[in-house]
Amino acid sequence: MSNLFYQSGAKRPVLDHAQGVYMWDQQGNRYLDGSSGAMVCNIGHSNPNVLAAMRRQMEKSTFGYRLHFETEASEALANKLAELTPEGLNKVFFVSGGSEAVESAMKLARQYAIATDKPTRWKVISRSPSYHGCTLGALAVTGYSSLTAPFAPMMQEMPKIPAPRAYLDGLDPNDPKTGIHYADMLEAQILREGPETVLAFIIEPIGGASTGALVPPVGYMDRIRQICDQYGVVLIADEVMTGAGRTGTFLGCEHWGLRPDIVVMSKGLGAGYVPLGAVIADDKIVDAVMDKGGFAHGFTYAGNPLACAAGLAVLDEIASQNLCANATSTGDKLIARLHGLMQKHDVIGDVRGKGLLTAFEFMADRSTKAPLPPHLNAHQLFVDLAYARGLIVYSRRTRDGIAGDHILVCPPLIIDDTHIDEIITGLDATLTEFMTHIHP
Ligand code: PLP
Repeated sequence: MSNLFYQSGAKRPVLDHAQGVYMWDQQGNRYLDGSSGAMVCNIGHSNPNVLAAMRRQMEKSTFGYRLHFETEASEALANKLAELTPEGLNKVFFVSGGSEAVESAMKLARQYAIATDKPTRWKVISRSPSYHGCTLGALAVTGYSSLTAPFAPMMQEMPKIPAPRAYLDGLDPNDPKTGIHYADMLEAQILREGPETVLAFIIEPIGGASTGALVPPVGYMDRIRQICDQYGVVLIADEVMTGAGRTGTFLGCEHWGLRPDIVVMSKGLGAGYVPLGAVIADDKIVDAVMDKGGFAHGFTYAGNPLACAAGLAVLDEIASQNLCANATSTGDKLIARLHGLMQKHDVIGDVRGKGLLTAFEFMADRSTKAPLPPHLNAHQLFVDLAYARGLIVYSRRTRDGIAGDHILVCPPLIIDDTHIDEIITGLDATLTEFMTHIHP
């Protein structure tokens, strides 16, 4: 009898070891990690250089409390992140995960408002669907009703605008009017709330688990930047999933030349080797907060030297193996092959993504975009069938967490063409079997 408990889901076998893009259970069954865990293991499993860097750090120290010591590893990782992120975002605050990073970014923005004599600003606008974490603050900006509803009385409700799902609304994502249409919903919401109350707007540059690799329409990013500037709203890019090369650039924002005021990262930064997250903020934000007494916030494990040494080695691997470029080239091939599967299997209603953040969505009818009936729990069924074939993929409900089903296909950025063949063969066979369950 296990004493562990997690979220719901099928009981899985015990993991024995993992190497590169593969994982083995204790029975010797091999799995291709087609979702990099939860879009985490960007550089693959058991990378020898990262393990060696961790061993070196462990020999020196594994903990130095931030109020007692700076550490070489945390200084070096902060310098590297400042280099890799947009100009002027040079101040780095470490945490141990994505939810912590989102909470920290929102609290930093709030202290910035207070420090600059705008104490009436506290609302953080976000989008629905979206996922920004499971702690109460991060959940308050998450737009995904099945996760948020039970906790509504415990949270400060935050305003939401629709995510730019052009494909569902029958709009052309390549028409700049579409991007403006969705971005202008931000301005309308700011005006409804009263601009003097709005602190920040938080986005996933490319949607993650909640929307299934949703790429924003042309013109959207430029317009939201303009709106945030016009109304003095802090723009927070939640790059927890899109960061560290996942979409083919170091940050997802780079695809549109978008410069946020605060970036949050986690997942691919520790890459499954250590729990690690970071808030990378505009100098002017941190300087203002520090001038007024400092950031009233912090976690015991922040800037842990072992975590930072691993993170630094992960960033070295991303650079030395050219993993952003590999994510672009293999991602293009993967998306083309997913379109091939869509031609063969009518149940796939949409294919989307960028780099190796890719997804397909099931629909009962492509012309009406009707989802599969929710009681089929199609996304979980598909994941279980693929798992039984040795292929790990990730899935969620697409439409605000209550209907629709998408499958995220997000292998480590180290994959080559043979892995793509293996993934597509596994998905194809799983889709055929899946249909026998959907239409017996
Ligand atoms: N933000 C985004 C975009 C995420 O995808 C996630 C996790 O999936 C989080 C925040 C929360 O990260 P964590 O699970 O590490 O707390």
